[in-house]
Amino acid sequence: MDYYLRLAGAENSAFGTIVAADERASLPHARPTDKIITPHSAVLFDWGACCQSYCSDLTRVVFLGKIPPLLKKLYRIVAEAQQRAIDLIKPGLPIGRLDKTARAFIQKKGYGKYFGHGLGHGIGRQGHEAPRLKGNKNKLQPGMVMTIEPGIYLPGQGGIRIEDMVLVTETGCELLTASVPKKLEEMVL
Ligand code: ZN
Ligand code: ZN
Repeated sequence: MDYYLRLAGAENSAFGTIVAADERASLPHARPTDKIITPHSAVLFDWGACCQSYCSDLTRVVFLGKIPPLLKKLYRIVAEAQQRAIDLIKPGLPIGRLDKTARAFIQKKGYGKYFGHGLGHGIGRQGHEAPRLKGNKNKLQPGMVMTIEPGIYLPGQGGIRIEDMVLVTETGCELLTASVPKKLEEMVL
């Protein structure tokens, strides 16, 4: 992935690319190991480019061959939590409301304690910068760029995170990572 980022014009990777299969995906900051990917693995990729000194950051999970029923269920919950947050984005909204909304949905589905990190972070010259999304009382402003990345991590079993980048516009937001497939049926290889 790092090679293709450079081929496409990136100066560098924005951070150490995460590739985590199956139970390793339950670690939000998994490091590569010697784990062998199997014909039916679920593989989480979290990667970003640094280009003209600005960073990107996104996460997708792909399924080899078929989607295990539990992960299918988690994927749908995480995808809806993310969409609910994205649908709210517009100038003037308290930033923390995004995290609250996504978290409330995941909690309602019974997985609240398995979403152990904030909904996202600002991104720009650095991979993680202001604004922090969780508990932030400041308001969204046009021009802010942030990630929206809910996740559910079941220790020893697996994890699903879906991460996209949004730009806050005058009227709402623009999904900067819209060209990367995300629909469940598109994630099966
Ligand atoms: Zn990421
Ligand atoms: Zn991120």
